[in-house]
Amino acid sequence: MLSKEKTIWAVHQMMLEFPEAMGALHSDTPFHLLIAVMLSAQATDVSVNKVTPKLFARFPEPKDLAAAEIPEIEAYIRSIGLYHNKAKHLKACAQKILSDFDGVVPNNRAGLVSLPGVGRKTANVVLGDAFNVPAFAVDTHVQRIAKRLQIVKQSASVVEVEQVMTKRLPENEWVKSHHTLIFFGRYQCMARNPKCPTCPLLEICAEGQKRTKKTAE
Ligand code: SF4
Repeated sequence: MLSKEKTIWAVHQMMLEFPEAMGALHSDTPFHLLIAVMLSAQATDVSVNKVTPKLFARFPEPKDLAAAEIPEIEAYIRSIGLYHNKAKHLKACAQKILSDFDGVVPNNRAGLVSLPGVGRKTANVVLGDAFNVPAFAVDTHVQRIAKRLQIVKQSASVVEVEQVMTKRLPENEWVKSHHTLIFFGRYQCMARNPKCPTCPLLEICAEGQKRTKKTAE
């Protein structure tokens, strides 16, 4: 397993490679970021950014979305995967923000995960990006990289990955590290064909060394 020092070193190498790493979802308020993150489940950020300008213009506040009919919400997000369920969740989420939080998106994890359709990952992204609260969201890229680099055990759950990463990394680097790992997973350590021969972490990555040896044989 990778030590704490090497984990920090590895994440800093990724930051050097992708200094521009940051959230790609467009939004202007915490409420709109929450909507965008909910829509991004099993959909690309690009596809979400295409539908949100009109959606946000039509539903500026939770009260607007809470009062909307589901078919109208669906019409705005039809090009996004799982739009039936997402439309239902968006309305229910806006209703709960109105009824339980005075119409204001809660800025803490317990409040966020109490909203319909909001899981731990969505809550962590919103905490970090909308409220500057230290949080480390684990998505499929983060999980894969943490396992390939043996930062966590291969059987680690999403919550375990989050626990290990937040224990190892300085709190003020959690949000940036999350975005950096996503960029690293998109452009360097991809699921199918990771670019191991050009990877700055090859020297500490058993998985990469195995893969490059196989290619050389
Ligand atoms: Fe990923 Fe390969 Fe780099 Fe290891 S060496 S982190 S598997 S790209």
